[in-house]
Amino acid sequence: MGSQEVSSTVDWQGKHVTIAGLGVSGIPAARALHERGALVTVVNDGDDERARAQAAELEALGITVRLGDGATLPPSTELVVTAPGWQPDKPLFLAAAEAGVPVWGDVELAWRLRGDNGREPAPWLAVTGTNGKTTTVRMLASILEAAGLRTAAVGNIGVSLLDAVLGETEYDVLAVELSSYQLHWAPSLRAHSAAVLNLAPDHLDWHGSMAAYAADKGRVYEGNTVACVYNVADPATEDLVREADVEEGCRAIGFTLGAPGPSQLGVVDGILVDRAFVANRQKQAQELAEVSDVNPPAPHNIANALAAAALARAFGVEPAAVRDGLRAFRPDAHRIEHVADIDEVRYVDDSKATNTHATEASLAAYDSIVWIAGGLAKGATFDELVTGAAKRLRGVVLIGADRALIREALTRHAPEVPVVDLDRTDTGAMSEAVARAAELARPGDTVLLAPACASMDMFTNYNKRGEAFADAVRARADESA
Ligand code: ADP
Repeated sequence: MGSQEVSSTVDWQGKHVTIAGLGVSGIPAARALHERGALVTVVNDGDDERARAQAAELEALGITVRLGDGATLPPSTELVVTAPGWQPDKPLFLAAAEAGVPVWGDVELAWRLRGDNGREPAPWLAVTGTNGKTTTVRMLASILEAAGLRTAAVGNIGVSLLDAVLGETEYDVLAVELSSYQLHWAPSLRAHSAAVLNLAPDHLDWHGSMAAYAADKGRVYEGNTVACVYNVADPATEDLVREADVEEGCRAIGFTLGAPGPSQLGVVDGILVDRAFVANRQKQAQELAEVSDVNPPAPHNIANALAAAALARAFGVEPAAVRDGLRAFRPDAHRIEHVADIDEVRYVDDSKATNTHATEASLAAYDSIVWIAGGLAKGATFDELVTGAAKRLRGVVLIGADRALIREALTRHAPEVPVVDLDRTDTGAMSEAVARAAELARPGDTVLLAPACASMDMFTNYNKRGEAFADAVRARADESA
């Protein structure tokens, strides 16, 4: 199968496809390929009750499912379609590589199947980066909607990509969030335009190294036709543009919180301006929106708004729609969400800060903080984060499996900051964390849940962690009312 082919040129009839992983991407993939005549086998590591129920549904359609064995490649396999999270060094992939069998992720499959329902495929505006993806993609969708375009925020959020490309709804353009895992398994993706928001160490246990992680993020620029959008403040993102093989005429467009140079978007006197998509970029700058149109107008979020604006402008959206779209945008839950004020202390839920880079942005937004942190560190180190924030920390409450790593960094770089180390993981742990944080806080402080870690050691996901925090805070607010 050549890299530019779409499904209509792939003959699925009788093709032996192995789907790696039941779940949000595996089940729709299995169904879609089975419907097209492929001989589908799903392999899955887990063999619990839920997996058995899902397997029964697929088996009823005539799909083969092998539970409890995600390691062995069925001998006749001609193509593997994997869930994006599956680690590349799994034996299944080594066997596929040895047998010369291609491996596609959910994004690759959606990319190949677009147009398969007889419709003109919608171009993709793609966003990746360590942090800010969801926010930026939602801002972008809001801007595209304000421009009267039929669009959706898809990918790593909301609507699955496969549903978006094969479903009933027709789109003019898609705002696509892509994780580094998804990009790893998407060799032939070619976006209209793409942005890498920032690049900081994350998921290194999965990718193996920072270089491998950056290379996977950089794939988003491959084959772009109109614009590769990079972060001027993060030169690694510009390096990725330089390394990418793009279509003739595709431009590198920077975004900056400072005054923009030619071919950049930036900020001048509280106004978001465009010096890229104007007739004369040496002399001209186009006003797009005011900083106060961005919700919330924290520095990292203004950067997200500029990236979204750059992609929209690359697609030909008028300035007024950029402003209207940004004004209409509302941030998602658990992202610097103000929960309550109690006794002149502000409580903020940034449970979505699952790595140190996001937490750094979050800690930078407040002057005096009681910080609730900890969970699964995913191979991260905390020295830089703690050094940068030390002066603004009133105190710290640590939770979760890898809290000792943060405590050690605090001992090294902020020994004077009081630390409460909570050695419990039961459902009441977050309430106690909030109670201990409240004891440390003084009027004017912010109690900030910005864990810098994943949540799965104690919670189902970051949403549940944020809800546990917000519930505990609200219970205190009710008590003190
Ligand atoms: P993602 O989808 O990449 O995880 P989100 O938009 O959900 O990104 O935000 C994740 C976390 O990162 C939030 O905690 C938010 O406060 C923080 N964040 C958002 N944008 C940025 C940015 N541009 N730089 C650093 N941190 C950011």
